[in-house]
Amino acid sequence: MALESTGKISSRLEVLRQRFLERAKEDIQQLRTLAEKTRRGEFSADGLLFCYQSLHRLSGSAGTFGLPELGEAAKALEKQLKVQAEELGALDDTVAHPVDIPAGFADGIDALAELVEVKSQAVEQAGSYTEEPATYKGSQGMQVSVLLVEKGDERLAMLEKEMAPYGFSFTSVNCDDAGALGNALAEVRGAAAILCRESALSDVMSLRNTSFEQSSRRRLPVICLGSDNSFHNRYRVAEAGAFAFFPDPVDIPELAERIESLAIERSANVQGRVLIVEDDAELAEHYCLVLQAAGIEAQAVSEPLHLMSNLADFEPDIVLMDVQIGEYSGVTLARLIRFEPRWLSLPIIYLSSEDDPENQLEALSKGADEFLMKPVSDSYLVRSVRIRCYRARQLSELMNRDSLTGLLKHSLIKEEVEKELARCRRSGERSCVVMLDLDHFKTVNDTWGHSQGDIVIRTLANLLRNRLRETDMIGRYGGEEFLVVLPECDVSSATELIRGIGESFSALFFVAGESSYQVTLSAGIAAINDFTNGEDALNAADQALYERKRGGRKGVTVYSSK
Ligand code: GH3
Ligand code: MG
Ligand code: MG
Ligand code: MG
Repeated sequence: MALESTGKISSRLEVLRQRFLERAKEDIQQLRTLAEKTRRGEFSADGLLFCYQSLHRLSGSAGTFGLPELGEAAKALEKQLKVQAEELGALDDTVAHPVDIPAGFADGIDALAELVEVKSQAVEQAGSYTEEPATYKGSQGMQVSVLLVEKGDERLAMLEKEMAPYGFSFTSVNCDDAGALGNALAEVRGAAAILCRESALSDVMSLRNTSFEQSSRRRLPVICLGSDNSFHNRYRVAEAGAFAFFPDPVDIPELAERIESLAIERSANVQGRVLIVEDDAELAEHYCLVLQAAGIEAQAVSEPLHLMSNLADFEPDIVLMDVQIGEYSGVTLARLIRFEPRWLSLPIIYLSSEDDPENQLEALSKGADEFLMKPVSDSYLVRSVRIRCYRARQLSELMNRDSLTGLLKHSLIKEEVEKELARCRRSGERSCVVMLDLDHFKTVNDTWGHSQGDIVIRTLANLLRNRLRETDMIGRYGGEEFLVVLPECDVSSATELIRGIGESFSALFFVAGESSYQVTLSAGIAAINDFTNGEDALNAADQALYERKRGGRKGVTVYSSK
């Protein structure tokens, strides 16, 4: 989804606020007419129910639109009617039912009118929308940027050379050049980390902290390299705010992996998909805009009839559920969602102005996970949604991803082959499937130990992630076998790409104690379009891989049907 510019979002929020104000004024006018009747003793049960609902709506939304006092005043009046409204709600016929209005109710309503007039003149501007939206979606290939901050030390430049095969995008800046560093920090996008030697750490930390606000997700993780591996020194580095410390001589594969995981973890934090079930149109749109501005995809549902199909289409990480959506109850809708096994673990969070813990507890027992109290401020909304999306994603990642490499598990990557074949049929695009296997890997394990073997597997996983595009899909097919799906990529481009990756990989030195060793890989490629089902395409890639192994390993073979 294309994200709109800060200015455009602010002006759309302003339009919503104006709309809210107009509607609030109309509602309050109606409330005053009814309240006037209480002064004459003409107030009916229907009038009471109308006032109750109207006040409920105001109390839940006014705060979000910058009028918290109005919201609180409406809430106090709503509470005065609550017991009677609930009794009346349970009756079939309310017409003849007597109502008892607390003294001062009409005065309270008059006060609302004043509040909306005064406050609408001088409303604080809605929050600032300077947050950087994430440009990466939950895909496989991801270019990680590394900012090398040096201070006249040759060692970082050498490190950059040694790390070249891992496929990171490096930018070097001198830490004495604050302007250049500031620019580099401002320009860096997506998954990224900062790397520096200890001598530059304090400068780097202070520049990073002034470049990004305290709360910003874009505060990049800093990894520090140094020679003193004593506890006291490591403590000092941790105190300064570094995320990791690597003593000399730097373990390159370890470092590559840490950069990868810290950078991706941070960029993954800013993603999320939220479905908002809310019948108040302005409020729903306001939430959507605020979340979208923070890089979170948000969609609103105002008509519960379409809830299930919206869920299936949008596949949100979490649902924000209003407690009352027109005549529907959010509690019941939450239960209905759970009827489908697919949504059993979908987090559902109530948007509620219910501040009675007893009632909250009852709702929780009926299938919601948590509450967000209305009115919700913009920054609180973004923070709570972000953290809940992150947790939800981590959980589903745990279920879908291989723990050693973080790549898709066997069954999921196989599914991707089928999906890609279907996509190719529709679009006529050409795509490839690649099967990769490490050469003589048994020997690596036997010679250097199983944990060294694990490092080799993870290194290849990281290299693939770095070198492939965001839209490519990478899975761990088996022990030391990987499966890659390359959409919109013909056989010759795929061959060139995989050959290059294979060459980079075999150029890497793995260090074990005093010795080092190298590992090569073999790959088999098949054009997905040439097959009628995914299974056949996979078998073809596997056959090509087998031929490569017979033909001397180390390299790429393309499947041919002859
Ligand atoms: P080839 O070049 O023909 O592929 O020979 P190879 O030795 O790589 O092939 P083989 O399939 O005989 O051996 C694969 C080895 O990979 C055997 C297994 O112990 C090892 N392996 C599988 N999964 C893991 C893992 O997660 N970690 C480690 N360290 N080794 C693994
Ligand atoms: Mg509602
Ligand atoms: Mg092998
Ligand atoms: Mg194998």
